[in-house]
Amino acid sequence: MIRAAVTSSVDGPVHIEELLIDDPGPGEVLVKIRASGICHTDFLAPQIVPLPAVLGHEGAGEVIAVGDGVDSVAIGDRVVGSYGYCGQCPRCQSGAPYHCSDFSRIQLGSRRHELPPLHRADGTPVSGAFFEQSSFATHALMTARNVVPVTQDVPFEYLAPLGCGVLTGFGSVSNVFRPSPGQGIVVLGAGGVGLPAVMAAKLAGCDPIVAIDVKPARLALARELGATHAIDGLAEDIVASVRDLTHGGADFCLETVGQAATFNLAIDMAKSGGTCGFVVVPNLGQPFEIRNGRALLSLTLAGIIEGRAAPGSLIGHLASLIAAGELPMDRYTTTFEFDDVNEALAAGQTGSAAKPVLRMPATS
Ligand code: ZN
Repeated sequence: MIRAAVTSSVDGPVHIEELLIDDPGPGEVLVKIRASGICHTDFLAPQIVPLPAVLGHEGAGEVIAVGDGVDSVAIGDRVVGSYGYCGQCPRCQSGAPYHCSDFSRIQLGSRRHELPPLHRADGTPVSGAFFEQSSFATHALMTARNVVPVTQDVPFEYLAPLGCGVLTGFGSVSNVFRPSPGQGIVVLGAGGVGLPAVMAAKLAGCDPIVAIDVKPARLALARELGATHAIDGLAEDIVASVRDLTHGGADFCLETVGQAATFNLAIDMAKSGGTCGFVVVPNLGQPFEIRNGRALLSLTLAGIIEGRAAPGSLIGHLASLIAAGELPMDRYTTTFEFDDVNEALAAGQTGSAAKPVLRMPATS
């Protein structure tokens, strides 16, 4: 039996239950989860994934069993779980698994729907394999593809968020923007994705690095993590302030809030020839307004999934940066014990913690 935080309703609390988990099938690995980050997608998922379900997609831990055909990781390896991908389609084969043609279906656990990995003792299936993980649990079945072994001596609480939130924010800067030292960047939303973007911008030598948020505590954190300027998103004339700071507009704007208003702010704050990246879309499935000005014709708008990072290519680098003291994960993360999962989820939802991380007991 494993212990897992089960979501049974769209907005109710989760309950920790004892569940049965399948043995790893071909290509799968069973991971004893030691820590799991909480990410914004976990809050949207109950409206999409069949309930009851175990969510969570930033799990890190130790491999305790492997299925047939797995040779990239072994029992005892410390691993970071990332997003799932098919590995077969042309995009996966060309090294771009973040653009996998089956991306959405795989993250929603559909690859495992024929063979549900989790059951209650009475036989009721519980949706699992969320992002090929379902890491809000003491154990999770992942695939050899979406786990990345790490050798660096870094606590699991710092490794867990590398699989999605840090990958997305850091990768948006390092893989998509690829700034030169001295280029200006604006990050809208100083949260789980925005703060790693600030850290990446600092390492890249961006100047200025402008963070925008409506919460003073998050702005203060952004300054600690490398933002040269922090601007209250509710202040007046913030477009003028940013255009002033960036001498007419930023080279890069990263929109992490997902509202039409912030999407338009990003466009207004970029300079001619600049790039606006967005990691979440406003009004999913519905139209939203984009202010239609001449500036739009001079911009590159870049939708960014998972920082356009293949897990195997960036996570090891991020772990090395943490080990070298270059990524202040102690400031970015807030750790909660697994039994306090509802408190941790609330902290993530209200934004009182930028990156809540659950810590699972070492013995379970
Ligand atoms: Zn694919």
